[in-house]
Amino acid sequence: MEQINNRMNNTEKVVLVTGASRGIGREIAKTLANKGYKVIADYNKSEEQAKSLKQENENIEIFKADVSKREEVQEMVKFTLEKYKKIDVLINNAGISESKLFTDVTDKEWDKMIKNNLYSAFCTTQEVVKNMITRKEGCIINVSSVWGMIGSSCESIYSITKAGIDGMTKSLAKELGPSNIRVNSIAPGIIDTDMNKCYNNDEIDDIKNEIPLERIGKTIDIAKCIKWLIEDEYTTGQIISINGGWVIT
Ligand code: NAD
Repeated sequence: MEQINNRMNNTEKVVLVTGASRGIGREIAKTLANKGYKVIADYNKSEEQAKSLKQENENIEIFKADVSKREEVQEMVKFTLEKYKKIDVLINNAGISESKLFTDVTDKEWDKMIKNNLYSAFCTTQEVVKNMITRKEGCIINVSSVWGMIGSSCESIYSITKAGIDGMTKSLAKELGPSNIRVNSIAPGIIDTDMNKCYNNDEIDDIKNEIPLERIGKTIDIAKCIKWLIEDEYTTGQIISINGGWVIT
């Protein structure tokens, strides 16, 4: 019964999630689709995973776009608007990470990180927000990171991109608020996804020991908060960190 009610309430809402074939993005897409939202799940390389996501729920449509490339983002937005006529929610989730000493980072690696983590959110937001401004309604959620808030040794470029995302969130909340568009960041702590497969079990245990809730996060922890943020009506310009108490500012 709850599922039917959710479907009725949310049938009209259209959500675009970037980097949705796996990890946090996939969980967000599934969670929202199960609640009746129409979800466009963007993917870049993992076609098989994207297809299996689409098969899981009739409310999910998939589209291949590298969000670090404007033409591909434009194609995705065009496809979405032709299919659903509007985009209510944008979730800028796609991202990459790399651990390296600051002094070893090359210009090429800098450009790659900026393009995939920061330019992608700038460009996708620019392309999507036109439709939101016309309709005077919208919700944008940027997936940043605790590292954007407190910095991280050996992940400085990643941290710079996430701090940049948070700056964009705060600025756009001010610029777009009068158009009834809310903009927020979700800043996860450590979440159990492929992004962290570089850590061995001992390293994960060490991190767990630093977390007051004594576990690393699950993708559903993030998806639940995203759902709440979409349904809320008065939160904007905030960096909401979901990290089990690992980082308390
Ligand atoms: P993940 O590596 O499993 O997923 C990231 C997804 O983004 C992948 O599917 C990847 O293909 C996609 N992607 C990357 N660049 C893209 C591009 N240019 N175009 C389209 N898709 C692209 O990692 P995840 O943990 O699910 O990460 C999701 C988001 O959460 C990222 O922005 C990440 O920085 C952030 N985050 C993750 C953690 C964590 O501990 N896992 C912590 C803080 C923040």
